[in-house]
Amino acid sequence: MIFLTVTAHPDDEILGFGASAAKFVSNGHEVYNCILSGDVNARLHRPDLKKLYEDTCNAQKIIGAEEPILGSFPNIKFNTVPHLELVQFIEKVIEEVQPDYIFTHHPSDLNDDHLCVSRACQAASRLSQRKPVKPIKGLYYMEILSSTDWAMPSNVLPFQPDTFVEVGEVNFDKKLKALEAYDGVMRPFPHPRSNEVLKGLAALRGGQSGKNYAEAFQTAFQILNL
Ligand SMILES: [Zn+2]
Repeated sequence: MIFLTVTAHPDDEILGFGASAAKFVSNGHEVYNCILSGDVNARLHRPDLKKLYEDTCNAQKIIGAEEPILGSFPNIKFNTVPHLELVQFIEKVIEEVQPDYIFTHHPSDLNDDHLCVSRACQAASRLSQRKPVKPIKGLYYMEILSSTDWAMPSNVLPFQPDTFVEVGEVNFDKKLKALEAYDGVMRPFPHPRSNEVLKGLAALRGGQSGKNYAEAFQTAFQILNL
């Protein structure tokens, strides 16, 4: 199977899907991470672009993903980009990668770039109903600590996990190492992007599903072809 994540920022792909990616790759599947922002100008405490590019590539290697697919949309300003441009960029990636499953941001995240990406990815995921590309089997929303968990009450329901991937300690450790490959992502506890909270969430999602550490997702769209 071919898995594609579509996220706004370098590190989102690891926070949401890193341990699942490591597991799927070790089971013989392919994982492509499309990160729409390679521009770090608006990010405080961040290395320059070249260093961030190296960090991003290293993180992919640690989890076994393919070379990252990077866009240059303006960080923390995705809402200044026409929706259509985001959709067309993601559609091009879908045509190239031909994914079976797509994972993207939840549409109630606190981070506005995440919302823009989620909406664009929902639209792009319908590509096979407009063009002759391989239909996807499923679209899922990810849980990104310090964004999904920081969402305020709104008219969009918060993250409600319904799909769980058992990752075990080995793949969870790869996720942590991949996050540590990025400068400035991991923070001291009680920040959500700390070892303690990441491991606590993996244990909680494992407990909810009867599994040994898990990452959780919410189904947006799924085709059952049994
Ligand atoms: Zn992000």
